[in-house]
Amino acid sequence: MTANPLPVSPSARRGGRSPLRPRSEASRLAALRHSLSRLKLDALFITHLPHIRWLTGFTGSNAVVLVSSRKQWLLTDGRYKTQAPNEVEGFEILTASKSLFALAAEKKLLRPRTRVGIPAGHLTLAVYHNVRRLFSSMRLVDTVNVVEPLVAVKEEFEIVLIRKAVEITDAVFTRILRLIKPGIRELDIAAEISYLHRTAGSDGDAFEPLVASGERGALPHARASERKLRRGDLVTLDFGCRFRGYCSDLTRTVAVGTVSREKKKIYSTVLEAQLLAIERAAEGVHGKTLDRIARNHIRKRGYGRYFNHSLGHGVGLEIHEPLRLSALSKDVLQTRNVATIEPGIYVPNVCGVRLEDDIVIRGKGCEVLNRSTKELLTL
Ligand code: ZN
Ligand code: ZN
Repeated sequence: MTANPLPVSPSARRGGRSPLRPRSEASRLAALRHSLSRLKLDALFITHLPHIRWLTGFTGSNAVVLVSSRKQWLLTDGRYKTQAPNEVEGFEILTASKSLFALAAEKKLLRPRTRVGIPAGHLTLAVYHNVRRLFSSMRLVDTVNVVEPLVAVKEEFEIVLIRKAVEITDAVFTRILRLIKPGIRELDIAAEISYLHRTAGSDGDAFEPLVASGERGALPHARASERKLRRGDLVTLDFGCRFRGYCSDLTRTVAVGTVSREKKKIYSTVLEAQLLAIERAAEGVHGKTLDRIARNHIRKRGYGRYFNHSLGHGVGLEIHEPLRLSALSKDVLQTRNVATIEPGIYVPNVCGVRLEDDIVIRGKGCEVLNRSTKELLTL
């Protein structure tokens, strides 16, 4: 498949960086520094790779970023000596053959007594203790949820990339339908999804495709198995790809031949619940409200105890970003949040149905990115 034209940044026109990555680091750094001053921090370590990619464009597998009120550094290892300067602008790049935190301490990047945030939730206990030892002359503060709220509100160019990932996944869904017939194994369908994602121009699967047929459909996160499809099965397919790092996430449930009236009722209940939630998704709406709308509908139809996961999650450089649409969520939706809406009903030993779309919050409503049909397809 050929890629649609995508916006070209001025730096790319000058022969610089990827045309798919406009230069937004400066505004991202400014927003991050604003958060730091609000939290009364002089500096912050960032270790979570998707956050580092978001802030710097670096795509390698080992890095630590340090942002102070005036300067910013990216520390990585020798494997990325050439790659890092190609991908990252505006950060001083340091490479080390030892622990990146040890390098930061040795280079004395921060003055003693600096109030520096360490992302406790993204470090192993061993690294956490090491950081506390290496920077004992600093005032260390455990931080959570500093970068996450900034990542959750997407820039338009990011939505373009998510949309492209969604288009590829939608196209793969159309092509996979011809395979779905009695006798084929779930594993063969999953393999074909992965192959088609690659050949359609994506970076590859965003996660291992889930294919769950018949009574296995009642396992919400069933991995594809050797089970062969049978007439009368419902089959749930949950898959997504990455395009230039950004994820898509789609679920559809289809029928193999004619299915029972009960299965059709379960399907239409899930579809109605999903449409009700999508209809209400807008700026200012609480994540838990959307979850309740879908859940109430499913409960009214008599399947309340069979919807045993949350309604949706944020999507972006990670397939599961912290934005949550769940009963316990404290999140309030903002324009340019991207999230999934994915209610499901799972009746043990009988079947499962889930439908999932990716949406973008736009003021008083939302845009559904997926185009795949939600009619119950009988194959
Ligand atoms: Zn999914
Ligand atoms: Zn999902």
